[in-house]
Amino acid sequence: MHRLSSVLLIVPCLIGAAAATTDDNNFVVIRAPRIALTHVKVIDGTGRAAVATRTIVIEAGRIVALGPTASTPVPPGAEVLDLPGHTVIPGLVGMHNHLFYAVPPGRPDEYVTSTRTFPRLYLAAGVTTLRTAGTFDLAADADVKRRIDAGQEPGPELYLTSGYFHRAAGPPDAARIEKLIDEQQEAGATSFKAYTSLRRDELAALIDGAHRRGLRVAGHLCAVSFREAADLGIDSLEHGLFTDSGIFSARTPDRCPDPSALAQIMAGVDINGDTVKQIIADLVENRVAVVSTLALLESLAARSGVVDVRMRTVLAPQIRDRWEQTSVGLADRRAGLAVWERVLTQEMAFERAFVSAGGLLMAGADPTGWGCCVAGFMDQRNIELLVEAGFTPEQAISIYSANGAAFLSVADRIGTLAVGKQADLVIIRGDPASRVEDIRNVVIVFKNGIGYDSARLIDSVAGRVGIAEHTNPIMQLLANTGLHPILVRMIFFGGTALVVVILLAAIQGRMARRRRRRT
Ligand SMILES: [Zn+2]
Repeated sequence: MHRLSSVLLIVPCLIGAAAATTDDNNFVVIRAPRIALTHVKVIDGTGRAAVATRTIVIEAGRIVALGPTASTPVPPGAEVLDLPGHTVIPGLVGMHNHLFYAVPPGRPDEYVTSTRTFPRLYLAAGVTTLRTAGTFDLAADADVKRRIDAGQEPGPELYLTSGYFHRAAGPPDAARIEKLIDEQQEAGATSFKAYTSLRRDELAALIDGAHRRGLRVAGHLCAVSFREAADLGIDSLEHGLFTDSGIFSARTPDRCPDPSALAQIMAGVDINGDTVKQIIADLVENRVAVVSTLALLESLAARSGVVDVRMRTVLAPQIRDRWEQTSVGLADRRAGLAVWERVLTQEMAFERAFVSAGGLLMAGADPTGWGCCVAGFMDQRNIELLVEAGFTPEQAISIYSANGAAFLSVADRIGTLAVGKQADLVIIRGDPASRVEDIRNVVIVFKNGIGYDSARLIDSVAGRVGIAEHTNPIMQLLANTGLHPILVRMIFFGGTALVVVILLAAIQGRMARRRRRRT
């Protein structure tokens, strides 16, 4: 029964994939030389309070006027969208937004590439720029970036991060790291991902190599503490304080403590105490940014209400059951997960303290964990959680737009709404400044002055998330059967090798026959 339903699914999936391959025009609702948005509320991304009844004029992909509707004329020939009851915010800048998905229940070997569906979901949620912050398939990420840049796929502007840099089996080897940096840069990475097991000497070599090339390092660290990494010159620390082994007084340098022990420490650490104060002071002094991923933390805490109903529509049918079961299982074990709820509130307090001290806080979806959440929806949830942490909705949006733009050194172009800026903006039904959950009601997303239909983008991935996404149609066909990603690769490459062997044998046989005929 299960197998049959999998096979039956192939046909609609293939049709869907074929229909979705052409170009991003299918999703464009407005593209005009001049566009005026009138009677909108504006949250400009600077953190300042929202202002009502504005007009925004867009021309050739730029904002050319922004002011009170009463005193900002609509230029002749402009296409007008009159939007009372709507709010406009800057396009979001996601700083930890992978193009892969963790299949529930989130075993480490079950990440699938989501390079076709996730860019659409990010864009649909209002994310117009993102940094991938680590990948298992840089070539696939680079491929979709090329397609987006060429207008063949809808999606945000992508800043590609390398694969994960792990601790080497032997002693630290700077030459090996240098070689890896070269390869990943060649493949399109503009930042590098340092991962948990990496040691100080290895991290130092990575930072040094990246900085010599004018590139950046993002760290989800563990063996190296935040203060050590700040001292080495790291650029951003991912996830926040609960990944800092520096709060663990019994730590051994260059060793990652047991993560559950670290969670216990985090649950009890005094955020206003000297240890954390010193960590924050070091990060601020060394201009190390922190990337908030509160929605991921929340998914570990398995709070009630964490499940986003929209997940059911986008997940592939063969994943949906596992997703339901995992979320129900976690909810049943909620008592045992209380420590993560405490870690979440502690992390919120840390992020507020970090910002109060002058730190640059950014945010991202990080669609990992147990597969709870996907691209875009998770970014919106993060904004809600930043507000729960004590930021105003305007500040939360600024963290998610202006701060990422500043870090990427593109604040003169994107991140805030002002005359002269690129027209990356999001039209939202409702008023997230007073009801933050309205952030989910995205109607149209403008990227570079072109308006995309949010609902149409989401519809185009319905039932498709959670299956590995390949540009090769045969690999896609295999993946759609619901086979394990590793099995799909084995069958594909095994099959290809077999065909090559048969062809070679046939050619050789034919040549041998010819030789015999000649003699
Ligand atoms: Zn991540």
